[in-house]
Amino acid sequence: MSKTILILPGDGIGPEIIAEAVKVLECLRDDFGLAIEMQQALVGGCAYDATGSPLPEETLNQAKAADAVLLGAVGGAKWEPLPIAVRPEKGLLGLRAGLGLFANLRPAILYPQLAAASTLKPDVVAGLDLMIIRELTGGIYFGQPRGVETLDSGERRGFNTLVYSESEIERICRVAFDIAMKRNKRVCSVDKANVLEATELWREVATQVGQDYPEVELSHMYVDNAAMQLVRAPKQFDVMVTTNMFGDILSDCAAMLTGSIGMLPSAALNESGQGMYEPIHGSAPDIAGKGVANPLATILSVAMMLRYSLAAPEQAERIEKAVEKVLDQGLRSADLASPGATTVGTAAMGDAVVAALREAR
Ligand code: NAD
Repeated sequence: MSKTILILPGDGIGPEIIAEAVKVLECLRDDFGLAIEMQQALVGGCAYDATGSPLPEETLNQAKAADAVLLGAVGGAKWEPLPIAVRPEKGLLGLRAGLGLFANLRPAILYPQLAAASTLKPDVVAGLDLMIIRELTGGIYFGQPRGVETLDSGERRGFNTLVYSESEIERICRVAFDIAMKRNKRVCSVDKANVLEATELWREVATQVGQDYPEVELSHMYVDNAAMQLVRAPKQFDVMVTTNMFGDILSDCAAMLTGSIGMLPSAALNESGQGMYEPIHGSAPDIAGKGVANPLATILSVAMMLRYSLAAPEQAERIEKAVEKVLDQGLRSADLASPGATTVGTAAMGDAVVAALREAR
């Protein structure tokens, strides 16, 4: 049965990079028998311009009905003066909430061909392949009570609450263990159990869930040590699972180890495996419309979609191999330009991936 993908190009470089991802999907559909149907809708600033809302109801309904959503990026200076409630980023948050996307998968992969792009020594990062799994709908970003209050003394006090229920911890840990089973069977659960009771519970539940996965080696690490280890020896990790805020920080740190924002995909999944897939970078207004953006993060997001929401891991591998081949050929977009490499634009990079896919038939 054919699967439905909702395509949301968004703003800035979004439409340019999405066009290349669509080329790849069309190639898999036409040449490799991938049974998909693609629909397109508006989200972000372009949706606000057209409808007055960054997330029109029709878009949310289409997203709910789809098997997976592929998003480019949203936002730009044009919409910054708008009230927060209708800013482009609200479109993203509305999709996350509306689809119940509680598990954020953020791989940090450094292809050996790009080792020089990292600020760390090549031998520390070359071949890095780790997956950070961040809880996305709970924790201190959403906990109640929260706010700023004025004390009797007249001084103001700000407060937020870190809350996690056992079921919230359990479901995110299960995602981590399931993914580890398909990788190198190691999970590192990151917490601050020595100081925060909520993460003491996190550690306890992670350990319980681990008992259902005897093949997976579980370790626990305090978040401060995890930050240090990520920079010292990142290749020691396979899958890391952690809270919303710790994951927010650690995943950006891990992404930057690779030095290549234009290469990193991401996924956000709900309980039924439905997901939203997008590059980790934003709408890059500084290069929008110039045809120089790197489309590989978006193309690799398609690979994640095939693996995690469309049950087509062999098609995902095809894409990943094609991307590696293109890098082996020395093709680089401007963000990764290096001596001896050939700098190509957005469309030429997409075409090269499609050609590599076809050659591997
Ligand atoms: P950004 O990621 O858009 O850009 C940061 C830098 O990286 C820029 O110099 C940009 O040119 C470069 N870059 C990003 N993607 C690239 C690509 N594919 N190829 C080559 N170079 C690339 O971050 P920013 O400048 O802080 O934000 C710009 C806008 O994007 C803002 O409106 C922000 O709110 C929005 N944003 C959206 C998302 C999202 O849609 N998920 C995420 C982050 C930021």
